[in-house]
Amino acid sequence: MTVLLETHNLIKYFRGVEAVNGIDLALPAGCCFGLLGPNGAGKTTTVELLEGIQEPTGGLIRYRGEPLGSRFRQDIGIMFQSTALQDYVTGRENLRMFASFYRRTLPLVELSEACALGEFLDRDTRKLSGGQRQRLLLAIALVNDPELIFLDEPTTGLDPQARRNFWELIHRIKARGKTILLTTHYMEEAYHLCDEIAIMDHGRIIAQGAPRELLAAHFDDVVLQLPLADFPDPAPPLTLTVMRSRDAVEILTRDVNAAIRELLAWNISLARLQIRPRTLEDLFLELTGQGLRA
Ligand code: ADP
Ligand code: MG
Repeated sequence: MTVLLETHNLIKYFRGVEAVNGIDLALPAGCCFGLLGPNGAGKTTTVELLEGIQEPTGGLIRYRGEPLGSRFRQDIGIMFQSTALQDYVTGRENLRMFASFYRRTLPLVELSEACALGEFLDRDTRKLSGGQRQRLLLAIALVNDPELIFLDEPTTGLDPQARRNFWELIHRIKARGKTILLTTHYMEEAYHLCDEIAIMDHGRIIAQGAPRELLAAHFDDVVLQLPLADFPDPAPPLTLTVMRSRDAVEILTRDVNAAIRELLAWNISLARLQIRPRTLEDLFLELTGQGLRA
């Protein structure tokens, strides 16, 4: 397994803020690596250090074993968390301009196909929907056919359909053997796309691994969900672990049969019972005592 990009004890302090506080990462070639964490966790700062856009306060970054240099800059593609596109300019014109910065470029037809730009390639960038804009920004990131692609919260603010369409594009990039570093605060996105994730909070990595393995390592139970209205008030003295949210009651159990027997013994209606597996959101909550604030 070739490690493409790695860091040792990476640190970035702003005045009074420990934005990145000692991060060790190793990105294997061909991996889709996810940095998952709530707003302010330090994802963008980490990514911008790795992109060579910000200077670290301390620590090491190596690309193919070397400091970040001109080869690195030709090899990478970046989609920033927010990018201003020039008004009155079309997608095609944007792509031509960005292509002029690189020695090697992908043909426009190929980019357009890879990012599904077809119907809006010649439209003024002011007239694009959120999803179309993100697809164009992805195409700009891919203009030099990069080996390593940085995507900083690429689907934040998109509606669920546009988000799923974007995931499909990321799958296609993965299928071409590219390496991706993705940040997100959507645990479902990390679970769906990433081979490996690092969960960040307050500038540190608090858990790391393949999503499924992380969940298996931390949890051996499932969650029974009932609408709050179906749960007696006051609650009966159950032996089960019961958690309340605004509109639901969640019961954690390793033994679904026993839990259901106990609920039935208290005459609780299970007509609207749902059973769900544990998620990365639960893991984050367990590790930090807080939700992902998504
Ligand atoms: P995320 O991308 O996970 O939301 P960021 O990396 O943007 O997190 O921010 C991490 C922390 O560093 C936050 O507390 C943020 O306010 C702070 N921060 C980021 N950039 C700067 C900056 N240029 N100057 C001062 N503080 C910053
Ligand atoms: Mg960010």
